[in-house]
This record gives sequence, structure tokens and C-alpha cells, in this order.
Amino acid sequence: MALRTVRIVNDDILHKVSRPVVQVNDKTRQLLDDMLETMYHYNGVGLAAVQVGILRRLLVIDVTENGTNPVEFINPEVISHKGSQTGWEGCLSIPGQSGKVVRPAVTVVRAINRFGQPFEMRCNGQLAVALNHELDHLDGVLYTQRAVEIRRQGEEEDG
Ligand code: ZN
Repeated sequence: MALRTVRIVNDDILHKVSRPVVQVNDKTRQLLDDMLETMYHYNGVGLAAVQVGILRRLLVIDVTENGTNPVEFINPEVISHKGSQTGWEGCLSIPGQSGKVVRPAVTVVRAINRFGQPFEMRCNGQLAVALNHELDHLDGVLYTQRAVEIRRQGEEEDG
């Protein structure tokens, strides 16, 4: 495993649309491992491949406090959204600030796992927030484009 460099907000790549993963292989699994290591290293709860400079539709999430439940999504597709929730989000690509964003309360998603097998997952709570935040990254959208309020670090506890 290896740490990857996280792209920061002024990098144009963050505004580009990621392409689907064509084949899940050892290189894919290596990338997922590196993304998880990088996410944990920087105390993030989610990371999309584009954030480490790879324009492919992969993301990793772990919303547990001790980092014990990593979830990986390859080529994720939303099946349905339900309800809404509002909370504060941060982003490893946008250091030093957080934003208040409205997200679905529940999102059902279909994706492929690291062995190339399809699965479906029903996500709610923080997992739904993180999932929708990361799905936006795959389409070149940052939370700052959706936020109803932005705060610099020190003004508000990050939610
Ligand atoms: Zn982000």
C-alpha cells in the first residue's frame, strides 16, 4: 500500500467527470488499498479516485470512528433516493473549511466490489451523506457548489 497525493481545490481535475472502470484487476485493488490508506492517513471519511488524480469511478468510505468498516464502490449507480438530511461536511480536497449541505436521508446504490461482483447497498445517516458527497466527486461536483452555508475552520465545529 502507498499514500497517494490528494488533489486540492484549485486543481482542475476535481471538476472533471470520471469514466467507468472497465476491468477490475490487481491494479484496481491496489488503487483501492492506496485510497483507503490515504483516506485514513488524513482522517477522512470518504475518498474518490479523482481526488488522487485518477479519473475513474471508484470511491471508498468509512464513517466509523475507529476506521473498522471500509466500504468500496466501483462504478456506483444510484437506484433511489429518499428523504433529506442537513449536516456539515468537510472534504480532504478543500482543507480548512466546512459547509452545510442538504443530502438524501437514504440512498440505495448498486456497484461492483473489488472482486468484480455486483452488489446493492442501502445507505442512511452518515453513510448516505458520505456516499452522495463522493458520488458528486465522480461527476466533478464539489460540496461547495451545493452548500447553503460555508464556514472557515475555527468558526464552527466540523459536522
Ligand atoms: Zn470531498
